[in-house]
Amino acid sequence: MDALLELYERMGISPGVYAYGEKILDKLADRFAAVDKVAEYNQAKVLAAMQKNRVSAACFVPSTGYGYDDTGRDCLERVYADVFHTEAALVRPQITCGTHALTVALSANLLPGDELLSPVGMPYDTLQEVIGIRESPCSLKEYGVSYRQVDLLPDGGFDLEGIRRAINEKTKLVTIQRSKGYATRPTFSVDRIGKLIEFLKSIKSDLVCMVDNCYGEFVETIEPSDVGADLVVGSLIKNPGGGLATSGGYICGKADLVERCAYRLSAPGLGQEVGANFGVMKDFYQGFFLAPTVVAGAEKGAIFAANLYEPLGFRCVPNASESRHDIIQAVELGSEAGMIAFCQGIQAAAPVDSYATPMPWDMPGYNDQVIMAAGAFVQGSSIELSADGPIRAPFAVYFQGGLTWYHAKLGILMSLQKMIDGGLVSL
Ligand SMILES: *Cc1c(COP(=O)(O)O)cnc(C)c1O
Repeated sequence: MDALLELYERMGISPGVYAYGEKILDKLADRFAAVDKVAEYNQAKVLAAMQKNRVSAACFVPSTGYGYDDTGRDCLERVYADVFHTEAALVRPQITCGTHALTVALSANLLPGDELLSPVGMPYDTLQEVIGIRESPCSLKEYGVSYRQVDLLPDGGFDLEGIRRAINEKTKLVTIQRSKGYATRPTFSVDRIGKLIEFLKSIKSDLVCMVDNCYGEFVETIEPSDVGADLVVGSLIKNPGGGLATSGGYICGKADLVERCAYRLSAPGLGQEVGANFGVMKDFYQGFFLAPTVVAGAEKGAIFAANLYEPLGFRCVPNASESRHDIIQAVELGSEAGMIAFCQGIQAAAPVDSYATPMPWDMPGYNDQVIMAAGAFVQGSSIELSADGPIRAPFAVYFQGGLTWYHAKLGILMSLQKMIDGGLVSL
């Protein structure tokens, strides 16, 4: 292993940082074994869905123009529907990102006069303009869809009484964000989401329950659609794309709701029948096939990061020993300088653009300046090793991804190295 040490040292990681990392890793064998068990189950689940739907080389053929009779596209949607145990799925390169997928799902299933409810507090930053919490042209608010929010209780629990009071005759759709996003609340387990959905439906049985599943896919053996969610929505440049999807999003759920999404995405009457695949199908299938193991590697990176940083005095969410329900690790660095050093370490460990120096900037859709470290093969892909966060108290960096565990490990060690080099922490 001396050769490895030597190589790491040449890449900028000091023997002290490496040794500290190894000491932390020695204690994580059981955690990692549990992650591998989930990955093994999910690998079999994806494989079974591909076999059942008779995926073949013909599925990878590019289509152009209208994309009529695109058997590869249609088959992939059946594979997704089977993995998520839903009636239908819309999986398209035309869905630009997670925000777009959520926008399609919301605007397809909310009409003027309807009300949207978030029973889990403020939604993800980019959704605020979609809903109209922050004014924007074409927001749901502009189209006459009202919004109500019930914040989590101080202990992170659901405010059941508040939710009961908030639901009224106009409440049509409930949006539940699984992952914490840029907040430091806990991410919800699928089990907890199921209990919330059960409660919501006990108050009003015809509520449409949508889960923003971003970053949660394949972290557990079940998905929100297994516990009553009517729609689950996510991005293909996060977990389910497995690092290979170059764009895209998915919406899985009840057939009538997904059909409306297809009408919204293309046009009323056209729906799911149109949409060329531009030759991305092989990557979409192969990425979905790899996703369970890629997610496992990313999760190991997150567990390693929490266990590395927590003993050094930085609050981590989730903490070092907690169970995990997404691939995000928040590390509260307490200062802008800490965020910059951490992100510069992640950047320096990247396979692409490793020579770049990330700095805070005004990113569209976000209220505060944001810093992002991303040396990704796919622009903005956050299933690849990346770190980002809004420059605001408590100066938390949200760290996620890693197409391989070894890359995640190297990135985390490099982040610690930059923190040490900057005099922001010592071992
Ligand atoms: C990333 C994310 C989104 C938005 O996805 P983009 O692809 O960045 O548009 C929405 N919700 C959550 C919880 C996310 O993590």
